Amino acid sequence: MPELPEVETTLRGIEPHLLKQRVARVIVRDPRLRWPVPVEVRKAEGQKFIQLDRRGKYLLLKLEQGGLIFHLGMSGSLRILQSPLSPEKHDHVDIELENGICLRFNDPRRFGAFLWVDGEMESHELLRDLGPEPLATEFTADYLYERSRDRKVAIKNFIMNGHIVVGVGNIYASESLFMAGIHPQRAAGRISRLRYEGLVTAICDVLSRAIRQGGTTLRDFVNSEGAPGYFAQELLVYDRAGSDCFQCGGPIRQKVIGQRSSYFCPACQR
Ligand SMILES: [Zn+2]
Repeated sequence: MPELPEVETTLRGIEPHLLKQRVARVIVRDPRLRWPVPVEVRKAEGQKFIQLDRRGKYLLLKLEQGGLIFHLGMSGSLRILQSPLSPEKHDHVDIELENGICLRFNDPRRFGAFLWVDGEMESHELLRDLGPEPLATEFTADYLYERSRDRKVAIKNFIMNGHIVVGVGNIYASESLFMAGIHPQRAAGRISRLRYEGLVTAICDVLSRAIRQGGTTLRDFVNSEGAPGYFAQELLVYDRAGSDCFQCGGPIRQKVIGQRSSYFCPACQR
């Protein structure tokens, strides 16, 4: 599933091809995505892309008036076609530019989204209540500490809540809690300010490392052979149940927390 680093990498991959370019045609082959694709997406036709951004796992493609939102869902990907290529089964959306380049959206499971926004994009209902970006300066230990007081929710669920902080998915939550030595089930309200400092550092570290790794895949966005892959990462605990902890040698455990598989070392994480 595309996580924040893949979405950031997608943004960096498509941005140079779209910015300041004018849309010729928006083709929707199958509007049945997570939400039906609105007919308004055709308002993009004739307009130039003036800015591309990411907010959480949403891609914001701003036009002269209004803009388009993509979400990659469970299995979506975007790529740039520099010459026409006939669509395949799950190629649901094409945005053709006047210069002949095409942005193609592929999504086998159709949990992704393609939406239109009139006016300010950040005021869209999907975006306006989101928490801070994990790599932004306002995401601090003090912020997490204040927001977590009197909260009994497990810390793993707390940091995966998009109203608290966006884009910390299941893999990155497990990895950063291990790095910070915090047990994933510990109540968010019972973690000290000092330990939150370690957690904020770990979240930033694990996400920026993944984004740096994604940088090596940027050329894949113009690869006509297929969709850009999601980059493999070196993981410390995620998907390593039963394997030796890299820190203490004990076994990594798996447990379902908040309906998601969680991986941790019971000896190193308290
Ligand atoms: Zn350990």
